[in-house]
Amino acid sequence: MDAAQREILAANLRRVRERIAAACARVKRDPREVTLIAVTKSVGPEVMQALIELGVTDIGENKLQAAQEKFPQVPGLRDRAKVKRHFIGHLQTNKVKGVLELFDVIHSVDSLKLAEEIDKRARQLERPAVAAFIEVNVSGEESKQGLPAGEFRDFFMQALRLPRLEWQGLMTMAPLAEGDEVARFCFRGLRQLSSPFAGEEALLRLAYLSMGMSNDFELAIEEGATHVRIGTALFEGM
Ligand SMILES: *Cc1c(COP(=O)(O)O)cnc(C)c1O
Repeated sequence: MDAAQREILAANLRRVRERIAAACARVKRDPREVTLIAVTKSVGPEVMQALIELGVTDIGENKLQAAQEKFPQVPGLRDRAKVKRHFIGHLQTNKVKGVLELFDVIHSVDSLKLAEEIDKRARQLERPAVAAFIEVNVSGEESKQGLPAGEFRDFFMQALRLPRLEWQGLMTMAPLAEGDEVARFCFRGLRQLSSPFAGEEALLRLAYLSMGMSNDFELAIEEGATHVRIGTALFEGM
């Protein structure tokens, strides 16, 4: 990575932060409520290190094996307390142990079987609590991963019983090519999913909404996103 690339990266990051702030301003939200997760799946350890030096505090990866290769090569990740690692990809039960060893937050819990496996492995690893999001398929698109929206309530009532899971909120992905209307519908749908829990203690545990990527994060923020997962927009022109 040369100086010119570093400058592009810094400018991209600044621009993304400005766009987050502008989206927050439109709906009178405090930008500090929105966590930027830099999704680094398309870049190597050097760029990840540069992002951390530029002040990024949250990084996201979607594949365990890539993380196992890259994380040890990023000096900025050595202090576990400084940068939070988010696992955002589809998670198979046989990868849970590895993910727990490397990551702080899991955004993609979409079945009871997976939640139970996380609970079991966390106990074995003596990890008292695992921060996790429930991934919901709001759009109903068949190709999409995630729990069908209609199964969410039953799932959550059972998932609440797993002692090592610390439920943080809900996660979704809007369909890529369907336009702003559909994306907004999905984001709003995710927010509304938690409203039947209003007044219940359980709601407190679902305070966060992980939604919005490079092409739709501003809409997601307008609809209440607390965590945006952004890759492409950070690396344009590099
Ligand atoms: C890749 C990915 C992102 C980031 O997507 P961009 O369009 O590159 O911003 C966000 N969330 C998930 C689950 C991803 O796999």
